Amino acid sequence: MLDAVVVGSGPNGLAAAIVLAQSNFDTTIYESSEKIGGGMRSASLTLPGFVHDVCSSVHPLALASPFFQKLPLEKFGLSWVKPDAALANPFDDGSCAVLYNSLEETARSLDRISDSRKYSELFLPKLKNFQPLLHDVLGPVGTRLPTLNPVQLISFALNSVKPVHSFAKNEFQGKDARALLGGLAAHSMLRLEDRPTMAFAMIFVLLAHSVGWPFPRGGSQSIADSLGRYFESLGGKMVTGLEVKSLDDLPRSRVKLFDLTPRQLLKIFGSAFPANYSKSLRSYRYGPGVFKLDYALDSPIPWKSSECLKASTVHVCGDLDEIALSEQTVWEGKIAARPFVIVTQNSLFDSSRAPEGKHTAWAYCHIPSGSGADLTERIENQIERFAPGFKSCVLARHSFTAIELEKYNANYVGGDINGGVQDLWQTFARPVLGLSPYKTPLKGIYICSSSTPPGGGVHGMCGFHAAIAAIKNDLPSSRR
Ligand SMILES: Cc1cc2nc3c(=O)[nH]c(=O)nc-3n(C[C@H](O)[C@H](O)[C@H](O)COP(=O)(O)OP(=O)(O)OC[C@H]3O[C@@H](n4cnc5c(N)ncnc54)[C@H](O)[C@@H]3O)c2cc1C
Repeated sequence: MLDAVVVGSGPNGLAAAIVLAQSNFDTTIYESSEKIGGGMRSASLTLPGFVHDVCSSVHPLALASPFFQKLPLEKFGLSWVKPDAALANPFDDGSCAVLYNSLEETARSLDRISDSRKYSELFLPKLKNFQPLLHDVLGPVGTRLPTLNPVQLISFALNSVKPVHSFAKNEFQGKDARALLGGLAAHSMLRLEDRPTMAFAMIFVLLAHSVGWPFPRGGSQSIADSLGRYFESLGGKMVTGLEVKSLDDLPRSRVKLFDLTPRQLLKIFGSAFPANYSKSLRSYRYGPGVFKLDYALDSPIPWKSSECLKASTVHVCGDLDEIALSEQTVWEGKIAARPFVIVTQNSLFDSSRAPEGKHTAWAYCHIPSGSGADLTERIENQIERFAPGFKSCVLARHSFTAIELEKYNANYVGGDINGGVQDLWQTFARPVLGLSPYKTPLKGIYICSSSTPPGGGVHGMCGFHAAIAAIKNDLPSSRR
């Protein structure tokens, strides 16, 4: 009998498997796709020689992850690229807000002097305490004492539980800081009037000013491949191309960890879970989906503002109110006329992504859950608005509707890329309310995906905490 089986090889499945293998437990990963990596895969989606990140593209959470930081991934082929700026947000008047890696430079560049002062006052003290703050944010919720002292924790909590829309309007006067915060918070896929959207904005700002917003040379796949190689170097095994539909598809093992979301677990376990646990899993809420485009381009995107060329990520929508309207419309079940589009242009900083002189771009916007709508025209109109001539640079494009994204990876239920809504309640009750959200009521059965704390993104912390719980509860101490 094996010690451990992990189903799914996303960042959380790989992290869980590595923790188990590091403790000398025989561990095998079962992955439905032919390639490991889940949300970290890259592929040649358009033309020969162009490498596209199918899902995740920019990785501040991976570089800052307390677990990934400890792994020797550079030795296994991972190399980071870090532009000087994390993010650009162009406006119709040709100006542009920029989130630089330097907090001082960002503050200086804002369009109002009062905002520059406010920005430093707000973020500088938090930046000084960012490592313990990150430890608290990425740690398992409610199961241990926080690392920050109570004054620091209260100061972070007071601001971060606020909705970003009113916070940005009350605290900042100019369009730059307001749009930067609104766009960052929109990554949460919540309405900007919802709590705790300011927490997302705050964390992304602090990541920019601490580790930057890096991405792996050669594509996101190289994070997956380096994790996979490291896992194999510890004796771990990986089986790909096997979709687990029932427990009969898996060998006997002391523990099983599932890098899957509640809906998939319910399919695999049927009535094996106690009724009240199944009921809780059934009531777990998924959020909006995404519509995604990948481009092979003849040239860099011809932004009106050359400032946009300083960052790998560009938020394409304009000002705070327009971003808020776009996200509100999606939650009303409708498609935004002018969607908030997140664009990345990693080939500007990493020549391995495209043939010489050519470029790639990656773009997505939010859309109602399960929508089959094609938003290519709306997305391209938005990019063209801030980069006239963009459409004529397109050599080829590839799209994913929300439905197609779920077909590509069953974890993206209805196209939700966060493994479930991450509002105030489901940040804690993820997937159910409990002291160890990773443990299910069945002996040896754990959930380790982004549907557990701390939630979405490539950081591996859900898998790390789930594996620690499995080792503590269900594995013999002799192998550790
Ligand atoms: C378009 C898009 C853009 C994104 N951008 C970013 C970004 O820039 N930065 C960032 O940090 N995050 C980003 N994300 C989110 C990030 O990819 C996810 O939060 C992360 O991958 C979740 O990790 P996971 O391990 O929980 O699940 P996943 O990465 O989804 O992995 C789950 C794995 O399980 C496998 N699987 C599913 N069902 C079965 C089954 N029955 N049997 C066997 N295997 C199965 C799947 O094939 C997959 O490999 C993005 C996601 C998408 C889709």
